Amino acid sequence: MQNTLLVLSGPSGSGKSTLCKFLQENIPEIYFSISTTTRAPREGEKNAQHYYFVSKEEFLTDIQENKFLEWAEVHGNYYGTSILPIQLALEAGKLVIFDVDVQGHREIKKYYGNLVRSIFITTIDKKTLKQRLETRGSDSEETIKSRLMHAYNEMKHINEFDYLIINDDIEHAKEAILCIAKSLAFITNPKNSEDLCAEWMGKIS
Ligand code: ADP
Ligand code: 5GP
Repeated sequence: MQNTLLVLSGPSGSGKSTLCKFLQENIPEIYFSISTTTRAPREGEKNAQHYYFVSKEEFLTDIQENKFLEWAEVHGNYYGTSILPIQLALEAGKLVIFDVDVQGHREIKKYYGNLVRSIFITTIDKKTLKQRLETRGSDSEETIKSRLMHAYNEMKHINEFDYLIINDDIEHAKEAILCIAKSLAFITNPKNSEDLCAEWMGKIS
């Protein structure tokens, strides 16, 4: 796998974490960018696995110390992507995966340019999204309302993404995301083109 980045975005509840976990279980060369957040952990979420859960004060200190590649306030909580682990994972030739909102996607693209590929993940309609958020059972009624309102603002940016997955049947969605992730091994980029060229010349001389 080459040093490439794959961003997953889409409304909260559309299935990003589920599909991300599936990719991690099926592609060994993946590094999942663990975001830092001030949101409280949901049942079953573990620190340093799903997120780094920190206080608002700690988050603000990290901003001041320029530790984030990007950060945003989403649904009244702070979320940020740390730069250092991403750089290390890329140097190790990993495929780095992100679960961030549409603003995060824009910032990552600004920074890493054409090494970035992106997928927008959504449900077939708003009603299904509401049902999924309710079934997940981790948010209050008020938070679900806010997430549904935010969902529409995210949907307006679908055309900024390379791929779209409508996560209706989970098996189809898993197949689609695995196909996309595997295809990234064949992307050309300045680094592998130079190496390949030098190697190719060496072999014929
Ligand atoms: P996100 O990370 O985008 O917020 P999750 O992965 O947490 O979303 O999924 C939200 C809820 O929907 C979870 O309870 C998950 O198990 C469920 N879910 C995900 N995909 C599907 C699907 N295709 N059909 C039914 N339920 C799903
Ligand atoms: P949740 O609270 O459901 O885990 O995440 C809420 C939203 O924040 C989702 O859209 C998720 O993609 C986004 N998010 C998670 N981490 C980051 C991050 O580091 N940066 C940005 N910009 N968004 C994030």
